[in-house]
Amino acid sequence: MILFGVLTSCGQRKAPSNDARFDIYKIQFQEEAKKRGIEVTDGELSLPIAFGETGSGTDGVCTVPGMGKNAFSAAANNLFNKENYDRKFILIHPEILEKDLFYIEAVVFHELAHCLLGRDHTEERSIMNVSQERNSDYPKLRTIYLDELFGLEADFEDFIMQLGCSKPSEETEFIDNVLYDSFGRTLRYSIFPADHESHEVYCVNSSLK
Ligand SMILES: [Zn+2]
Repeated sequence: MILFGVLTSCGQRKAPSNDARFDIYKIQFQEEAKKRGIEVTDGELSLPIAFGETGSGTDGVCTVPGMGKNAFSAAANNLFNKENYDRKFILIHPEILEKDLFYIEAVVFHELAHCLLGRDHTEERSIMNVSQERNSDYPKLRTIYLDELFGLEADFEDFIMQLGCSKPSEETEFIDNVLYDSFGRTLRYSIFPADHESHEVYCVNSSLK
């Protein structure tokens, strides 16, 4: 029990091995970065992600061995740069499986942005907000949230969307079209211009199975 106490107060001593179930999120992160002109290398993505104890009710943590729950603090900041990515790892609290895939994705992306982009928390509308609960429109505005995450201008206010559009036609040019499976479920997210007159209104199809 004493050992357990030491371990939990100082953080995990060893990086966990990677849980391949999170690989799909790494691939998505890399693709979304690439769409926005940011390179995330396979080497960077080799950082392990695993389920584990994250501490104080948080969904996830980006940390280094022995550093524990507050690893992304000013004191630890010098470890959180690209040169040190091979020391870092991400823990995700297993209770996150009670949430939907958009929520899980946002949490994993949040931790990847700590570890690989060096991003800290913000009070603004962002995946880097401390609470994903505040980003309840993420399933609809995923693209805009990701623009913000990767440093592009995020037009939260100007983005006019129409939900429940009819099926896109053959010629539809998707602005975003994401489909993947994770934890036995499916995330689908697509955006395309609303089929009439303007290109200022976008159809958003966002669903979970
Ligand atoms: Zn965080």
